Amino acid sequence: MSSNSVVENSADQDVERSVSFDYSELLNRLDSFFHSQHTRTLEWRKAQLKQLLILINENEQALFDALQADLGKCKQEAYVTELAYLKSDIKHQMASVKKWMRPVKKSTPLVAQPAKSYIYPEPLGTVLIIGAWNYPIQLTLSPLIAAISAGNCAVLKPSELAQQSSALIAKLLPQYLDENAFAVVEGGKDETSALLSLPFSKFFYTGGEQVGKIVMRAASEHLTPVTLELGGKSPCVVDSQIDIEIAANRIVWGKFMNVGQTCIAPDYVLLAQDIADDFIDALKHAIEKQYGKSPKDQEEYGRIINQRHCQRLASYLDGQDVILGGQIDIQEKYISPTLVLNPNENDLIMQEEIFGPLLPIIVMPSREAMLTFINKRPHPLAAYLFSKDEAFQSQFLEQVSCGSVCINDSSMFMLNHELPFGGVGTSGMGRYHGKFGFDTFSHEKTVMKRSFALENTLRYAPFTAFKKMILNRFIG
Ligand code: NAD
Repeated sequence: MSSNSVVENSADQDVERSVSFDYSELLNRLDSFFHSQHTRTLEWRKAQLKQLLILINENEQALFDALQADLGKCKQEAYVTELAYLKSDIKHQMASVKKWMRPVKKSTPLVAQPAKSYIYPEPLGTVLIIGAWNYPIQLTLSPLIAAISAGNCAVLKPSELAQQSSALIAKLLPQYLDENAFAVVEGGKDETSALLSLPFSKFFYTGGEQVGKIVMRAASEHLTPVTLELGGKSPCVVDSQIDIEIAANRIVWGKFMNVGQTCIAPDYVLLAQDIADDFIDALKHAIEKQYGKSPKDQEEYGRIINQRHCQRLASYLDGQDVILGGQIDIQEKYISPTLVLNPNENDLIMQEEIFGPLLPIIVMPSREAMLTFINKRPHPLAAYLFSKDEAFQSQFLEQVSCGSVCINDSSMFMLNHELPFGGVGTSGMGRYHGKFGFDTFSHEKTVMKRSFALENTLRYAPFTAFKKMILNRFIG
């Protein structure tokens, strides 16, 4: 394994496997560069961000091809959810990073006067970013954008499940970014485990809960700070006070985009009893409108990442009341948009995060029953409420604890760089996007600057009665 190349390994290089999984040289190399102070300057950060923008612009077709090969993503969806998202993220960071880097002045209490107080953001060092496969370009590069903006070096480990995207990132990054500061390691469990054993300055992981626990265990060894962007079952409550057609369109959009392989996709619908029949009809209609009578032949409808996940999803349909779809072609990694009515709470489809194009609908007798249903389960990453009733909206916000809420739409909050993105409880810890990403990859150093003027000796021993009286009065 060469420590000079940015691409340090490949998932296919089985021959190297037994001997090459020590990335300590790589980490040392990046850490040395970090300590050279180069990455701290505004110029360097902006230059790297600009290079990333150029990488995306100059390689648009190759990126589209990789996403098509990995997930059957059509160009338009790939553009909006991956490339355009990243470009807008980069531009936002470039426009804001100078302001974010500035020390933030804070007031100083009388007892410490004369002095000036600041919060001084500083980069962490060399960080490890472990990407997920469902938005393989966006979810790997978006944390990188924040890491660069905050002045860090980084090692990227894209998901091995999205092979073409991983290979493309590994090929392109060294051509555009500073090789002294960035590296891509390709591979799966073994490579990731080797990386996790090293004293990185931060682990930023996107993926499932089980590996999240592995990341956290590994982090404890070197007391490495972690951000975990995980998943979970995101509920979607449909109240009776709604515009049925609009709500159905928006749910179908959020659920079946990327064939349901979206961490914030509505996982299941809790539906008000009195509109149940009309709303189910509207959902069926919206699916046909957006994906046609035969989604398999529709360019806009992609594929499941691999046959294993296809089989996993197929098993969730065993014994279920499938009221639309249910067509499965494992060979082709295809599952049609599928609606399932009233599954049992203990069925797999209601126990596991679906992460595919199956939408269970549970008809509920009351709003209270819906809230109880959600709150009996672990904190979701996102929760959706469709309702015009402001009192119910407030109750929902008050009572449902989750990463993000969107009222009367699905997933739209992702487009706002001013909002943090992250989970709570089992849906994750930490957050990013916009300034929150900069903060996630920074340490907020406390600084107090005093002068030698006005020496006050009250704090020094011996503590006379007079000193004690004055001191305690000002400090307490
Ligand atoms: P995963 O957790 O299996 O894999 C993710 C990464 O972990 C990969 O890079 C992989 O190489 C590595 N990995 C896998 N097994 C490992 C092991 N034993 N030791 C060390 N590293 C290992 O991915 P997944 O679970 O299929 O991803 C789907 C999950 O990710 C869903 O729960 C989804 O909600 C969540 N997700 C969350 C977000 C978010 O932004 N919050 C985004 C996408 C996906």
